[in-house]
Amino acid sequence: MERPDSPSSFPAKPKTISGNPDSSPSRDFIRDIVQRDMASGKHGGRVHTRFPPEPNGYLHIGHAKSICLNFGVAKEFGGLCNLRFDDTNPAKEDPEYVEAIQRDVRWLGFDWGDRLFYASSYFSRMYEYAVQLIRKGKAYVDSQSEEEIRAHRGTVKTPGTESPYRNRSIEENLDLFERMKNGEFEDGAHVLRAKIDMASPNMKMRDPLIYRIRHATHHQTGDQWCIYPFYDFAHCLEDSIEGITHSLCTLEFEINREIYDWFLDELDVECHPQQIEFARLNLNYTVMSKRKLLQLVEEDVVDGWDDPRMPTLAALRRRGYTPEAIRRFADIIGVAKRDSVVDISLLEHTLREHLNAVAPRVMAVLDPLKVVITNYPESEVEWMEAINNPEDSAAGTRKVPFSRELYIERSDFMEDPPRKFFRLAPGREVRLKHGYLITCDDVIKAEDGEIKELHCHHDPQSRGGEAPDGRRIKGTLHWVSIAHALPAEVRLYDKLFLVENPSEAEDFHSVLNPNSVTILNDCWVEAGLAGAKPEHTFQFLRHGYFCVDLDSSADHLVFNQTVGLRDTWSKIQKKNS
Ligand code: ATP
Ligand code: MG
Repeated sequence: MERPDSPSSFPAKPKTISGNPDSSPSRDFIRDIVQRDMASGKHGGRVHTRFPPEPNGYLHIGHAKSICLNFGVAKEFGGLCNLRFDDTNPAKEDPEYVEAIQRDVRWLGFDWGDRLFYASSYFSRMYEYAVQLIRKGKAYVDSQSEEEIRAHRGTVKTPGTESPYRNRSIEENLDLFERMKNGEFEDGAHVLRAKIDMASPNMKMRDPLIYRIRHATHHQTGDQWCIYPFYDFAHCLEDSIEGITHSLCTLEFEINREIYDWFLDELDVECHPQQIEFARLNLNYTVMSKRKLLQLVEEDVVDGWDDPRMPTLAALRRRGYTPEAIRRFADIIGVAKRDSVVDISLLEHTLREHLNAVAPRVMAVLDPLKVVITNYPESEVEWMEAINNPEDSAAGTRKVPFSRELYIERSDFMEDPPRKFFRLAPGREVRLKHGYLITCDDVIKAEDGEIKELHCHHDPQSRGGEAPDGRRIKGTLHWVSIAHALPAEVRLYDKLFLVENPSEAEDFHSVLNPNSVTILNDCWVEAGLAGAKPEHTFQFLRHGYFCVDLDSSADHLVFNQTVGLRDTWSKIQKKNS
């Protein structure tokens, strides 16, 4: 009756997607159907799709799959794709979502031109269609309560029971329905139902509800209406009114296809779109239902819809994901008829691949340890040449200041190192990237034994980091000049959930990762990052990718960890091949 909820748990035996990340977008069964329809001249050779979100939450990565599919198919076949707000339920919808959805679709790289539509703007036409059904004797006003109606629907094994109001005359139905519209009745006093078959094996066909009374203010139509159409009646008409040819939806709507076609066959419509179902995207370690995401927001488990730990597009954007990476991900996972669970590391892989190509490399110290180069002149500063991106020759170089006092990463020093530790230790020599070779002479400690600073000397002949005699140096460290570096807050993220399938848990709160965010407040980044703007992503050498957060300002730089450097996905691929 209502639009079906997303499946509450994953399919019993999900197939894990092992798509080849290097393949180009492949053809799928939907593109095959569209191709055939164009060749046969069905729908007059037109292709017209739509992305129809309900504005009751932010878009998530699952929606991205649908957006890429709908806009992608339209583009590939020279057709059009509409953005349509499926706003037939005033209770849960909000203009904030209407704005956010447009912003996110645009960010993802798609353009609906002048074809932004609201289902609510078709309410008058839907009403007329409902009257048409009543006139044909195919719809009736039922005065049972919604509970009674539900109780009489029967089960999969037993037929339902016909309503005592089923055989009201057409005149009486027309009169009651009009009075429903005019606001003469309380919520729930009557509903309009299609008159189909209470014994149908498809429960959706057992006199489905078409309209209900709701005295509610709608975000688009205000108080103009007090009756609202149900999903099954509304959706096919929205598609038909817009001249949609291929109505692409997720698998749980397969059972709704019969009713979709029934309405369009019974009514006098010009366009009868074809509904085609595909498997929704499921990601491990992720909840994707808007209801649950809303709960996370409302209970302050996360810091809003765009908290970088959320799977929403707004959050991925804030985290440092690029539209290119998400579109590439959608290409790789493809479109199929069978439910599956995609490994989150595939999404991270596509992101890493893109950032590796475009993100400038910089040095940032997240846990500082002071180093004094004792043989380096006190007031001297040298501007060392540093390559911005070895993957992109056009990215050029920058100058990085080197001086007597530096920060290195605390974990890059060990007083008593094991043999395989190739970083700094007493008496050992390492390379400072783009800087000099340095050797540790002294460890200065506080009274409590904590290491306060290191005294080192540099080899003045090793400018740029190369040994003059070609001696082998195993360790290369990143660093910043204390006098020049900028303080920064860095937010590290881990998965929001501890288990692969959080939706399977009885209560998803019980599987939340208590350490999904760690805030580091004593970080230091290269001076060149002073003007970095939100959404700019950098590779912090040896740490991974980091993106300037929305909260960042010139006085207080804030970075989000985007994704690490290690690519577990390509390792899995190599192992399997
Ligand atoms: P949720 O189940 O997360 O609440 P929904 O299906 O209720 O989402 P809609 O606003 O109706 O959200 O979604 C708009 C479109 O996006 C629909 O066509 C829907 O099928 C599609 N969609 C939603 N979730 C996914 C997903 N995980 N994978 C692919 N497509 C999806
Ligand atoms: Mg849904």
